Amino acid sequence: MSALPTLGEAPKRSVVGPAVAAAVLVAALTGGVLYFRARSAPSSDPVSAALPAADAGPVALPPPPPPPTPEEQLKKAGLKRLSIRINGPLETGVIGGAGHETGPALTQVLTRTLVWWVHVPGDLVRGDTLDALYQERPGDEPVVHAVRFTSQKHDKTYAAYRFKAGGDTFSRFYGPLGDELELRLADAPVDGYDQITSLLKDGRRHKGVDFKTPVGTPVKATFDGTVSRKLWSFRGNGNCFQVTEAGGQHRSALYLHLSELPEDLKVGRKVKKGEVLASSGNTGHSFAPHLHYQLVSAGGAVLDPFESQPSSHRALEASQLPAFEAEERRLDGLMPATTAPIP
Ligand SMILES: [Zn+2]
Repeated sequence: MSALPTLGEAPKRSVVGPAVAAAVLVAALTGGVLYFRARSAPSSDPVSAALPAADAGPVALPPPPPPPTPEEQLKKAGLKRLSIRINGPLETGVIGGAGHETGPALTQVLTRTLVWWVHVPGDLVRGDTLDALYQERPGDEPVVHAVRFTSQKHDKTYAAYRFKAGGDTFSRFYGPLGDELELRLADAPVDGYDQITSLLKDGRRHKGVDFKTPVGTPVKATFDGTVSRKLWSFRGNGNCFQVTEAGGQHRSALYLHLSELPEDLKVGRKVKKGEVLASSGNTGHSFAPHLHYQLVSAGGAVLDPFESQPSSHRALEASQLPAFEAEERRLDGLMPATTAPIP
């Protein structure tokens, strides 16, 4: 029995020694493994992931993602592209490119830009090309963001880009150099309008110019004259009045679809150019808030206000040009580099 402690002590010593050695070995191995893991998975450590290891050697980077295709870029921008070569009626071509659902309305919207460049449809000839970027809107007409038209008859390519200038309420179309596409009437019946949705030149046999504008927009006299008529054919015209020019050509200006007329707007009242006479509305045969403005000669012939009244093209201010040019480049990048492919 007395030998046991001795025997026991000896093994104790001999066990402690190897146990410590083993523990050191395990620690060393574990540490080594941990160290190895830490080196082989640097991304688990935000610091080592952010800093390139000096001794990491060549690292195989994943291949860069392929550049987005034009179709992916268009989808991201929420736009669709039309690219056609005219080979018959414009609407047929646009339906061919944009489909039956969007085509007819898109034709109308595009025509409103084309009429500022050429006679539609008279000047359109086979082989003309039309490219456009547009945005579909369920239950509403599409918004066109860019148009490029190459005319065989005029041997010229025209382009327009939709842009909202700083301080403006509504977007407008501008040519490549920042000049506004549409003319502006010097003495317009409304100042603030979203867009002109009907022109005498757009081939719809509509007698007036429709200014799309919110209900309540001030409506002004376009020349000095006398209120010569009010509230006729209410079912179609809604609230309406007419001013006949004092002197000059004795033209008459007709204002239709107004909000309720002011009490003092009586037949025989003299009005001054620029005087606010009523507010725009959506009465009578009208599908959306707008002002129908119509000009007729003393003999009753329909006149085009853009030919019969003073008008001019506005240009973007220099301070707006960098933003406009950036938008122009973005839209050009989404349009085909060349015009429509020959079928
Ligand atoms: Zn109208």
